[in-house]
Amino acid sequence: MIQVALQKMGYSDSFYELLKEPLRFLTVRIPVRMDDGSVQVFTGYRAQHNDAVGPTKGGIRFHPSVAEDEVKALAIWMSIKCGIADLPFGGGKGGIQCDPRSLSLPELERLSRGYVRAISQIVGPTKDIPAPDVFTNSQIMAWMTDEYSRIREFDSPGFITGKPIVLGGSAGRESSTAMGVTMFIKESAKVAGIDLKGAKVIIQGFGNAGSFLSKFLHDAGANIVGISDANGALYDCAGLDIQYLLDRRDSFGTVTNLFSNTISNQELLVKECDILVPAAIENQITEDNASLIQAKIVVEAANGPTTLKATEILTERGILLVPDVLASSGGVIVSYFEWVQNNQGYYWPEEEVHTKLEQIILKSFHNVYQTSQQKNIDMRLAAYMVGLNRLTEAIKWRGWI
Ligand code: GLU
Repeated sequence: MIQVALQKMGYSDSFYELLKEPLRFLTVRIPVRMDDGSVQVFTGYRAQHNDAVGPTKGGIRFHPSVAEDEVKALAIWMSIKCGIADLPFGGGKGGIQCDPRSLSLPELERLSRGYVRAISQIVGPTKDIPAPDVFTNSQIMAWMTDEYSRIREFDSPGFITGKPIVLGGSAGRESSTAMGVTMFIKESAKVAGIDLKGAKVIIQGFGNAGSFLSKFLHDAGANIVGISDANGALYDCAGLDIQYLLDRRDSFGTVTNLFSNTISNQELLVKECDILVPAAIENQITEDNASLIQAKIVVEAANGPTTLKATEILTERGILLVPDVLASSGGVIVSYFEWVQNNQGYYWPEEEVHTKLEQIILKSFHNVYQTSQQKNIDMRLAAYMVGLNRLTEAIKWRGWI
């Protein structure tokens, strides 16, 4: 996709050569003392895609499927995401291959601190700023910031974002991805001529993004007809009792195990609705099910839920697709606000965070939408073209190419 976008923008092959891989990639091995006294060695990664615009930025994921190629791809996506939102950051990403669901809290703490010790040389508030991602949260960010501050021997809140508010986190950061998705849904519904009040919405995934999103959309008058977690899905065309589900979900977003009338995630995606939000994992909408999707708008709250072939099919069918690099940018935008507040030592009220977030979201949505209309290209390609603009300009000004 980067290659196609760069070609369409008239850039030489050297730009693709530079941007197709991260500038820097570190693999680390982390020995962790387990509660039973044994030692387990975990593999972790940190990728820094490009720092021409500014320090690199992106989350750390804890998941059994974390792999080198995935972390690299996610770092590239972060560059595009930051570019669309016009943030002064390049993309970064990290991960540890582990299953946090099977670790105790003390084991998780030792693993988090061990990872920071292993990557401390290449990260920092002016180099590369991590954040939460899949299965990491504000507690993990708190341990990490504490470890980093100990290594550096001074308090460094700007080293990581997504911290608890008492440690320099930003108001509104925890729900920011979902808040951003909500704003994108409102805007795309306007463009598609759908009234959000009463609109039927399916949300795949009930983790950080999916759970907050279900609440925000419910409060905005939408009818949440389907949700899911890793085990299965719930669908009711009359609408689900969202508060009941939110009260019962566990910290990993699991809730469907409490019900017997579940369907599969794949069945959920093709059920009747107006708006479909994949908010879970990669490769969910593929060429096998894209022609069966009934939604009029697909808003990608997860990273990479739709394959390129499926993007083509949805676009041909006239379905408005708000791609991941645009739709899920609320998290990193508020991370940017958190970093700015840390640098200033001056903290903003939540309303100010929301107002500033909305300004950026409206601007990025319309930039991408207009580019796609004017050039007659799909929203994903348009998003890449908008997202690469600042990065390629910065590379030229620096004289790298
Ligand atoms: N992990 C989030 C993302 O993929 C947030 C990254 C950040 O805040 O730096 O966008």
